[in-house]
Amino acid sequence: MNMSSDGEAATTASGLAWQQGFSALGPAFFTELQPTPLPSPHWVGTSASVAHLLDLDEAWLRSDAALQAFTGNAVLPGSHPLASVYSGHQFGIWAGQLGDGRAILLGETAAGLEIQLKGAGRTPYSRMGDGRAVLRSSIREFLCSEAMQGLGVPTTRALCITGSPASVRREEIETAAVVTRVAPSFIRFGHFEHFSANDMDEELKALADYVIDRYYPECRGSAQFGGNPYAALLQAVSERTAVLMAQWQAVGFCHGVMNTDNMSILGLTIDYGPFQFLDSFVPGHVCNHSDTQGRYAYNRQPNVAYWNVFCLAQALLPLIGEQELAMAALESYKTVFPAEFMARMRAKLGLGAVAEEGDAELIDGLLVLLAKGGVDYPIFWRRLSHAVGTGEFEPVRGMVPDQAAWDEWLASYLAQPRLADRTQASEAMLATNPKFVLRNHLCEEAIRAAKLGDFSALQTLQQLLESPFEEHPGHESYAAFPPAWASSIEISCSS
Ligand code: AMP
Ligand code: MG
Repeated sequence: MNMSSDGEAATTASGLAWQQGFSALGPAFFTELQPTPLPSPHWVGTSASVAHLLDLDEAWLRSDAALQAFTGNAVLPGSHPLASVYSGHQFGIWAGQLGDGRAILLGETAAGLEIQLKGAGRTPYSRMGDGRAVLRSSIREFLCSEAMQGLGVPTTRALCITGSPASVRREEIETAAVVTRVAPSFIRFGHFEHFSANDMDEELKALADYVIDRYYPECRGSAQFGGNPYAALLQAVSERTAVLMAQWQAVGFCHGVMNTDNMSILGLTIDYGPFQFLDSFVPGHVCNHSDTQGRYAYNRQPNVAYWNVFCLAQALLPLIGEQELAMAALESYKTVFPAEFMARMRAKLGLGAVAEEGDAELIDGLLVLLAKGGVDYPIFWRRLSHAVGTGEFEPVRGMVPDQAAWDEWLASYLAQPRLADRTQASEAMLATNPKFVLRNHLCEEAIRAAKLGDFSALQTLQQLLESPFEEHPGHESYAAFPPAWASSIEISCSS
């Protein structure tokens, strides 16, 4: 097929067809602009499953035309790139206007997915930033998006990374990369905060109506909250956020920068920066080296998310009308989060869907034991999953320092009638407790190799993370305890 820049031919070549979505909201919401080219781009990684979601032509995706387009060096036919404006609270403080400082939306495909280039150059919202992303952080974002998908956690996706020899200054000089991100919408809580804080009530309403009509149509005509669709929207978003928090806590994921501008209106994990999957179970773990107060510690995430949905409530207040109604819409967060968290922990323990009295004691008791020993979180769960099937609990027991307390806990766990069919429970646990998790040191190894032009470790890791519950024989080292140097990795906001 012809790879010329001719409009129609190239549309057919990529398989991409566009429709108007966010851009229909009008110029108060964004600035149209072109990405800034990068010299000599090369492929770093691609995700076949995201390409499939987008119905992208496989041969085209391997072409130079695709490489140039996803680096921001050529604009795809039918795409009208733009950067959107939002505001937000950063580390608990109102930060005023932020916006897509280095993300450029290419548009929305006919299948209803937005495509965004992250790191494709400066925008009117770049403030002091250079509009770029470095290879290191782009690999982290790419791998983690696909890892979360593999774990079944709602997330923005990543189609590809391209790299360039262009240098980018961070703590040291690094090279530039662009991640192509994909999601039904990249709208954040901060978009609502922006129009609310600036008393732009009309725009606020247009944004809320757009989000309801596109993503939460059930909020329209719901009898709840006296038929107020904006209160219904707030409740729906806060519940999705509660579910997401339950999933993060259960898989041991720390986001690291839960500012309101990094909170998706669709309840997706978004903006992968200094994130980390727990190695040792340390509830107060802070993965972001820049977070000196520990605001975004692992065990604070559910409360911080509630604080964030409260900010969203404030932003929506002009539309909701009454404070009491807004507060009522937030109420269910307090029951949805614990219920969802318990459900996920029961699943990790192979106890099935039915809640029973004593579950909280059983789960809390275990988490206290794990915390006391700083036990490796993923390996503990994977070993327990096998042990339930084999009856061989020594490999698990050996991980927990307080063995008397462990024996007592294990006895009460194994006495659960819901564990009667051990084979079935073990199988269910192995499908819930992953063997492969994107630990910091694995990411670091893939990054080191990629910096030297070797993308094989990245590809292997990507494959393992796409199906993290499978055994993948021959890849034991990727499921092993972290090396000693892992604890010295420092990840900051700098990306
Ligand atoms: P973050 O905390 O990474 O989500 O970013 C907060 C804000 O800073 C957002 O508005 C980003 O677009 C912007 N930003 C971060 N890094 C850069 C950069 N290198 N160039 C321009 N804007 C940036
Ligand atoms: Mg952000």
